[in-house]
Amino acid sequence: MIYLDHTATTRPYDEVIQLFAEGLGARFINPAGHYRAAIEEEKALQSAKARLASLLGCKASELIFTSGATESINTALKGYCDANRRKGDRVIIGAGDHPATKEAAAWLKDHGYDVVVAPLTADGRTDWQSVAELFDSKLLMVSTLSVNNETGAINDIASLRALRDDLAPGAAIHVDHVQGWNRLDIDLHASGVDLASFSGHKIHGPKGIGLLYCRDSVRFTPLIAGGGQQGGRRSGTESPLAADALALAATIGHGKREASNARVGELRARFLSRLTEAGIEYTEHAAGAAIPHILSIGFAGCRAETLVHMLEDQGILVSTRSACSSKKNDISPVLAAMKVPVDVAGGTIRVSFDPSNTEDEMDQATAVLVNAVKQLQLLVRPKKGRRHV
Ligand code: PLP
Repeated sequence: MIYLDHTATTRPYDEVIQLFAEGLGARFINPAGHYRAAIEEEKALQSAKARLASLLGCKASELIFTSGATESINTALKGYCDANRRKGDRVIIGAGDHPATKEAAAWLKDHGYDVVVAPLTADGRTDWQSVAELFDSKLLMVSTLSVNNETGAINDIASLRALRDDLAPGAAIHVDHVQGWNRLDIDLHASGVDLASFSGHKIHGPKGIGLLYCRDSVRFTPLIAGGGQQGGRRSGTESPLAADALALAATIGHGKREASNARVGELRARFLSRLTEAGIEYTEHAAGAAIPHILSIGFAGCRAETLVHMLEDQGILVSTRSACSSKKNDISPVLAAMKVPVDVAGGTIRVSFDPSNTEDEMDQATAVLVNAVKQLQLLVRPKKGRRHV
């Protein structure tokens, strides 16, 4: 198998697998207990939080373990708006945001909030300038992703912060950092954002655990009520083992961030040059604006689903777009918002790289892709000399 869908999920690091394998049976004690073994687990939980906080540039008290980024995002949007409604009722998201954000925003709209969707530029970035007149005293919150999960387009959080600070200082900023974690340089306090969401399984950590960052002075209504764990901000028994594994994955990835980015940049360049050498025409979406590990690439005249299946038949795994929406056959709303022509959007696949991929895998995958594209384009291209009557 050649796995080129690291945006959908990543394989846990070997060290993370080992930690889990050794700990799953041994570390079953509930950290809320009052005996020594429970206190040890509670300490492990707090130590994991402290390590994560130091990597992300925030305080441990500002991090909350969740089941993943979908929960973090829902908590950030619904919970913040509910607790702060008196400050305003307008919420701005981006047309390229993940379905978790779009669905949470749709829920807010149903509950009376004025939800505005900012458009995308042609290279896939959220165009806040075009909605700058809506940055006023009514603005309650702006939510954005740092890296688009379909195209890899990187949003400039500093420019969003400047706009907020200038025009709507009372508004909160939430950042979906899922695809940016351990790829971008993240310093939460320095960035001036109020809330942020993270996911374990996108950084070679475990599935079923994520983080919500909530700046100390910021209040939100918890989404999940119950036994009052994590200061009542997110009830439910914590898993110190999963927290440990998350902190381990984050630490390993942090240490090799720059080398990893450089490596996937080389793999991406090789992938693209093999296609060019084979004479294949393609459109690289968000070219120049994308993070190296996500390549959104369109082939006019091809159907993305068919391409994905032809590649899969040869053991190569890529996707049409976000794992959460890839089962739908329609054109990606993200590419539509970038005004990508329909025939190119319909033939767009997402290839995502990891430093564990090899040059040989790039050569094998592109050889199969070239054949598949040629076959599909032949089917749609009118044959020379044939007259249409
Ligand atoms: N946000 C982005 C940008 C993502 O790529 C994903 C996962 O596809 C999510 C949010 C949801 O993350 P999780 O799978 O942890 O719920």
